[in-house]
Amino acid sequence: MEPIVEEALSLAAAAGFDKSAPLRSDALVFREEVRDMCRADRCRSYGKTWTCPPGCGTLEEMRRKVSAFTDGILVETIGKMEDEFDYEAIEAAAAVHKKHFQALVATLRKKGYVVFPMGAGRCTICRECTYPDAPCRAPERAMPSMEAAGLLVSDVCERCNIPYYNGKNTTTFIACVLIGAPDAPPLSKDA
Ligand code: SF4
Repeated sequence: MEPIVEEALSLAAAAGFDKSAPLRSDALVFREEVRDMCRADRCRSYGKTWTCPPGCGTLEEMRRKVSAFTDGILVETIGKMEDEFDYEAIEAAAAVHKKHFQALVATLRKKGYVVFPMGAGRCTICRECTYPDAPCRAPERAMPSMEAAGLLVSDVCERCNIPYYNGKNTTTFIACVLIGAPDAPPLSKDA
């Protein structure tokens, strides 16, 4: 395993994630059918933020961005639910996941790594997104979800040998971050 991946996995454990795994580059398959699911707008986020389609960029732009990286990790937060309708537990796990992921990404950046994070869920940094009238207010913190990027999360997990489902009465939140060495050329401004 590359030292950069070993370090990232240990930082993920320190950040509080329940599970993590190296991200295989062949797991990053950006799919038009996932974009079709976004267009169906069941999450009511399509065209609402800079981090959701179409504002987050085309699948081709995503492919171009990730092609600059050879390393990355996948992280999971597993929430325990009383039953399958325990929305409080789901929301709590989502909030913990977001907090831990932002902390992990910030730590990697502080160490000088070039990163491209893909989280879970729509961007909630601002009460109202500026999309599409003005530039993003926090491009250094805003990130697309894995689904918004065009990834089928269950497939990515399978290819990386990490469970997508962690058993009865659990809810699992997943994110990934691509990591480049400190001396890697910075991503273009739109990354
Ligand atoms: S940081 Fe604010 S402006 Fe940028 S995508 Fe998120 S909600 Fe929109």
